Amino acid sequence: MNVLMFGPNGSGKGTQGAILKKEYNLPHIESGAIFRENIGKGTEIGLKAKEYINRGELVPDEITIPMILGRLQQDDCKNGWLLDGFPRNKEQATKLDEALKASGLDLSIVVEVILDREIAKNRIMGRRLCANDNNHPNNIFIDAIKPDGDKCRVCGGELSTRSDDQDEEAINKRHGIYYDTETGTMAAAYYFKALAEKEGKIKYIILDGAPGVQEVTAELMSRLKD
Ligand code: AMP
Repeated sequence: MNVLMFGPNGSGKGTQGAILKKEYNLPHIESGAIFRENIGKGTEIGLKAKEYINRGELVPDEITIPMILGRLQQDDCKNGWLLDGFPRNKEQATKLDEALKASGLDLSIVVEVILDREIAKNRIMGRRLCANDNNHPNNIFIDAIKPDGDKCRVCGGELSTRSDDQDEEAINKRHGIYYDTETGTMAAAYYFKALAEKEGKIKYIILDGAPGVQEVTAELMSRLKD
């Protein structure tokens, strides 16, 4: 099963992705997490990507596209994957579609989480990252997932903020890219939506990201069984 996740930063896309990953036992390929790992290790990709990420811009396609298409060729992706954070523009969508067709692979499910831009911004600024697990949800502005004091509510791990999460200008820039229906991430989502309508092989699920995590998960699970 090959799954694509779309949703603005702050929509809970990563959280729902982690749930799908567990449900279907899929590797969760997150482009943003791969970049952060590279930055942490000081690799060449990390050094190149850092300045773009801190400005809230997309890392150029010539770095991102081969990095992700290469990752999908690794052994753990043989029986499927869940891709999150890629594609983020039309060019990436086209290249992914071409790569899938060239390998004889189909997308099974595309999930698009929709959320109002202002709500998404507040959620980002409240987000805290657990040192032990990237997918432990903690947010100081959401009651259901408030950290335990200054520690992770799931495992008690140390929490930190992502530097690009506290920069309002960078958030606005990231959302500008996401909500752009002509060339941005919404254009990439619409590309696959049109494909789903045309070819009928892809299940395209639109999820309202406004309710709490559990409600959104319940809705996702029920839509998957439709
Ligand atoms: P995320 O964790 O998904 O919010 O990604 C953090 C940052 O990594 C983004 O703001 C971009 O700068 C960069 N990034 C992640 N995915 C992509 C992508 N598909 N294309 C270009 N840049 C990306």
